[in-house]
Amino acid sequence: ELDIPESHPRYESLLTRHRIEAGVEKGITSKQGLIAEGRGEAFDYLLGERTLESAETAERVAAAHLLLADRPVLSVNGNVAALVPGEIGELAAATGAEIEVNLFNRTDERMAAIASHLREHGAGEVKGLDADGRIPGLEHERAKVDADGIESADVVLVPLEDGDRAEALGEMGKTEIVIDLNPLSRSAQVAAVPIVDNVLRAVPNITAHARELDEESDATLEAIIAEFDPNAALQAAEQAIRSGDLK
Ligand code: ATP
Ligand code: MG
Repeated sequence: ELDIPESHPRYESLLTRHRIEAGVEKGITSKQGLIAEGRGEAFDYLLGERTLESAETAERVAAAHLLLADRPVLSVNGNVAALVPGEIGELAAATGAEIEVNLFNRTDERMAAIASHLREHGAGEVKGLDADGRIPGLEHERAKVDADGIESADVVLVPLEDGDRAEALGEMGKTEIVIDLNPLSRSAQVAAVPIVDNVLRAVPNITAHARELDEESDATLEAIIAEFDPNAALQAAEQAIRSGDLK
């Protein structure tokens, strides 16, 4: 899709830009999404465009949560759909999670375009179009979710979620896994499991951990979760940025 060798030092960042641009052209990513991408790219640069050890740990904990959950849901917005459409389907298959489209700037056209984009990349059922559930405490459009999806989920993966909605989901008592390159973002700070990593690396990593942990007992998964400290994970990421050591 992109005519640049994978060995190019900026390959991932160029691929990301290319996919986001294509996403905008295809009507799945919003203009706001372009801005969010720029913000994320700056943080990824400062993190050395690599998965920190603390993020790898968080990705394993996220896998444990998704495997233990009764009703896990992966929330997908326009950037996530543009960047990792196939990888989201693989994570759903590896953990038994549902996929739900959930947009900050919701339009029926974009909802439908994202759902079919995900299905073109191998996803099964895609939720979010019914919008028969609500997140309490949010303005009407922002609050819309599916009653049998995010509304009744116990564990939700929200990559690149907006801070308000991340907070409101937490108040509903859900276990939130947030993927966000900015460790200072409110979304990352309210998460039970903040993953400070590029969604491009994080989603396949969570899937790999889920496959590896698939046969483990509930007790083992619970122990992996119990050892995790979200604040330590955020501090490790912030420290990596402040150290200025791009590896
Ligand atoms: P706050 O959470 O502080 O309220 P916000 O949610 O309003 O801020 P946005 O710019 O809307 O801020 O959020 C975009 C977030 O997504 C940024 O924190 C950015 O770092 C992150 N982000 C963008 N692209 C990626 C990516 N590819 N992988 C992971 N995170 C990303
Ligand atoms: Mg945020």
